Amino acid sequence: MAARRGEPRPAAKTETKEIDWDPKTKLGKLVRSGKIKTMSDALKSGLPVREPEIVDVLLPEISDEVIDVNMVQRMTDSGRRVKFVITVAVGNNDGFIGFGQAKGKEVGSSIRKAIENAKLNIIGIRRGCGSWECGCKKPHTVPFAIKGKSGSVEITLKPAPQGIGLATGNVAKKILTLAGVKDCWAFTKGKTKTTVNYAKAVFNALEENAEMRILPDQTKKVGIVSGAIGIQKEEEIKEQMLQPGQNPIIDETKEEDKEA
Ligand SMILES: [Zn+2]
Repeated sequence: MAARRGEPRPAAKTETKEIDWDPKTKLGKLVRSGKIKTMSDALKSGLPVREPEIVDVLLPEISDEVIDVNMVQRMTDSGRRVKFVITVAVGNNDGFIGFGQAKGKEVGSSIRKAIENAKLNIIGIRRGCGSWECGCKKPHTVPFAIKGKSGSVEITLKPAPQGIGLATGNVAKKILTLAGVKDCWAFTKGKTKTTVNYAKAVFNALEENAEMRILPDQTKKVGIVSGAIGIQKEEEIKEQMLQPGQNPIIDETKEEDKEA
């Protein structure tokens, strides 16, 4: 969400945002005191993300996208009741994505609540080159095929070579863009016109991507990185590449991440 008035914007992407906030949870306090400085570290701590401010501080560049607004009408004795069910996705366009829903009488406040819920659901996804057809070793796509499901909708996201773009439906395109995936093929089954189920299936696939166990040699082969590249520390990438002293990812990806 927008920066609070009067607050200076962070000079660099690596700096955390100063916000007026009195944290109530353990993770919140660690973030507020600066003991945890990155979203990757916050998620790795295993502590639950229960305050949306944690995400606001660690990912000041986060943006949101309303995926669906559904009006639900119900007749009661006192007349017609209208409620809105809002579905949103949040992401930093660089490895972190969240999905959330909220229900309420007003659109505006329900959207805000859905955004908060999406922040509490944030995950760090893995990206890589993933495709032997491509072999560029930059983290531009999903590193392996992943499946997601919700209701009747099933989706398989597959690695695509650089330059293919997001060969997916519009809803998947919005979510994958927010997640920082640039190239991807999608194969779907079921009623993909059901926007909410389609969106949930995509997020479900990305959850699988985040949780799947991968072998160290796979990590190396397709150049897999987790979470953000822009703000990721060099050591972390080296560690993930399991090749100290050699780092094929960091410089190449930075500039191209700017556009999009
Ligand atoms: Zn590639």
